[in-house]
Amino acid sequence: MYKLGLIGYPIQHSLSPWIHERLLQKAELQGEYCLFEITPEDDFKEKVLELKEKQLDGFNVTVPYKEKIIPYLNDMDDIAKEMQAVNTVVNENGRWVGYNTDGIGYVRSLENAYPDLFEHLNRKIMILGAGGAARGIYYALTKFGFAQIDIANRTQEKAEDIAKLGKDNTKTKIFTIEEASRHLDEYDLIIQTTSIGMKSVDLKPIIQLNRLNPETIMSDIVYQPIKTQILQDAQRLGARILLGHTMLLYQAQYAFEIWTGMCPDVKEMEHELLAVMEGR
Ligand code: NAP
Repeated sequence: MYKLGLIGYPIQHSLSPWIHERLLQKAELQGEYCLFEITPEDDFKEKVLELKEKQLDGFNVTVPYKEKIIPYLNDMDDIAKEMQAVNTVVNENGRWVGYNTDGIGYVRSLENAYPDLFEHLNRKIMILGAGGAARGIYYALTKFGFAQIDIANRTQEKAEDIAKLGKDNTKTKIFTIEEASRHLDEYDLIIQTTSIGMKSVDLKPIIQLNRLNPETIMSDIVYQPIKTQILQDAQRLGARILLGHTMLLYQAQYAFEIWTGMCPDVKEMEHELLAVMEGR
């Protein structure tokens, strides 16, 4: 019987319980996935010690605790160390080991949707944004061997900091968002990773798409709304798109694999998850 869960705040509307209970079902494993909300008023250390006593097999960590959990871990994998952010913890005989599944989850979702992109590693990729998610995605794509990954962000220093992760294998130019808009036609893949486009933030796209090439794949990791304005606009201009909820699913698949050693196919869950998100 697997005991799994999620810590974060707020998490009441998290899709993770649905995803992981479905993964348990698909893997024919008994188990449960529970929410352990830790509010800003709670004593974090006390709550983490309570969690230790529950002897979970594994748990996810979301905002705002991805860094705060680190002092309570016994070990971290290399990616989590590089990211200095943990979103998945596995209990290995009482030892907590931290992972970061953002980058690998994203690359799996991309590879599943567009395997042709991975046939040549000389593709040109542009990442819009330089937050935590962009960092994980950039790192995973450089490890995969893509040779040119440029970054555009409002705060240039954050983009420069990310570019240091790929210095050995990958060429990276840093742009302002405005500069990036003038070069959009050069890219095979554009990955929108800023929070712009989210229901609760600003629905207007982060960038002008006038120069978008219809051959380009436009990906947005924002998944609420399901098809963001930038994806709608890109699709209207003839580009292929990648919806953000697929990253959520493949990240969960990787976390589930870390916890159970099993890797259920999540392809058919893409439509099921859409139905859940649409309240159908
Ligand atoms: P984060 O670390 O807070 O980074 C936010 C990014 O958005 C930064 O690049 C920031 O630019 C940019 N930004 C925010 N407000 C902006 C504005 N008004 N104008 C221009 N840029 C702005 O967040 P994160 O953890 O990377 O997450 C980013 C988004 O990805 C969120 O919407 C999150 O829900 C989503 N996400 C989805 C998945 C998935 O599985 N699909 C996984 C992780 C995250 P500055 O650096 O200049 O502040």
